Amino acid sequence: MLGRKGKFIVAGLCVCLLGVKMGRGQDPKAKQDAAATNRHVKQDRLWNTLQKLGEFGKNPEGGVSRVGFTEADLAGRAYVMGLMREAGLDVRVDPAGNIFGRRPGSEKLPALLFGSHIDSVPHGGNFDGDVGSLGAIEVVRALNEAHLTTRHPLEVVVWTNEEGGRFYSGLVGSSAAAGILPPDFATRQDDNGEKVSDWLTRMGGDASKIAAAKIAPGTVSGYLELHIEQGANLDEAKVPIGVVTGIVGISLRTCTASGFANHAGTTPMNKRKDSLAAASKAVLAVREEVRAETGRQVGTVGWMKIEPGASNVIPGKVTFPVELRDLDADKVNRIADRILKRFESIGREENVEISCTKPDFHSPALTASAFQDAIRASAREAGLNTLDLPSGAGHDAQNAARFTSIGMIFVPSRGGISHSPLEYTSPEQAANGAEVLYRTLVRLDAQLDAGPAAH
Ligand SMILES: [Zn+2]
Repeated sequence: MLGRKGKFIVAGLCVCLLGVKMGRGQDPKAKQDAAATNRHVKQDRLWNTLQKLGEFGKNPEGGVSRVGFTEADLAGRAYVMGLMREAGLDVRVDPAGNIFGRRPGSEKLPALLFGSHIDSVPHGGNFDGDVGSLGAIEVVRALNEAHLTTRHPLEVVVWTNEEGGRFYSGLVGSSAAAGILPPDFATRQDDNGEKVSDWLTRMGGDASKIAAAKIAPGTVSGYLELHIEQGANLDEAKVPIGVVTGIVGISLRTCTASGFANHAGTTPMNKRKDSLAAASKAVLAVREEVRAETGRQVGTVGWMKIEPGASNVIPGKVTFPVELRDLDADKVNRIADRILKRFESIGREENVEISCTKPDFHSPALTASAFQDAIRASAREAGLNTLDLPSGAGHDAQNAARFTSIGMIFVPSRGGISHSPLEYTSPEQAANGAEVLYRTLVRLDAQLDAGPAAH
């Protein structure tokens, strides 16, 4: 998952279970039998590859710093491409550095795409992105062992730089595929003069052709992503599989409270234009307005810059972001409108002007109901309970939703911890996710593009 500007921390974003639907359960005995006899993927094999990938960028704390566009990322990519080739996939890298591994199908149909990312945040864990990427490759190995040829060609994808640890942009590869990469991205360089274009070349991409990484709508049959939840819903409910209903939209504004910096000793209290006092009220107003409606929406003021920032000067200027997230874009806009009105009246009370930029808005992405159904049915078949839940974190799947139907499968994160070396998903939980991915792919392969009757 990605946080904006690579600082996303998602643990605890949506831990409320109210309104979450439980899938049809099975008794423990049936579940055990199913687990013993009913598996295509191999748990140990998947776990071994997860451990191996964790060697690239390994930290003493136990996690990894495998930030996109670094040596560790390159080494991890080489390892993953090797696994793809061993699984018989035809591997190519697109201009944006996205890795694709293709397995032919029996019919001339658009490919079914599935995968995730392998880059991490600095001091991240071994499961965010890795479970979905290596789970996808395990699915291919299992299909090979079952001698199963799907109707659709299958393509495993490992997206470039999901977390946005470098060059100020996350979801890079999937944004290129969706045709929404910031126009200046390919020419960016950092403070040390390192260039995006040089890194893309080293990754097998080509910055000058990055627009060609765009995937036109209708040219793939669907996209599936297996991922760790990064929240505590599944762990707390002890449910092995999450059926993601959608990925929340994110609205981000930067706001400025402008007052007047003056001497803290000589300016009387009734003559002040204290921008920090105004900004403090604004922070509480954000919380109140977000809480004023029922639902899972969240709103956060994540930092504050106070100027001039001295103990004997009244703060003249305070800058802070207002970040709002929900599956419903109308609700986000409605709440934002109320917040801006509150800012106006706070400004009047405090004799300070509060202004905000236009929102940088990432639309919510809903998963296709047919894909949700396929995931639920596949989990049930494998003896695994499911829980429907939205994703409070951003994912490459939200970009894939711009060119095809998407589905997402979540597996539990212990304690809801993510973006930390303490991030953990057990071998069994990871394999459960891969098994459901296998079955969902096979199910969708039969359903999709099967003529009008199947739609
Ligand atoms: Zn991720």
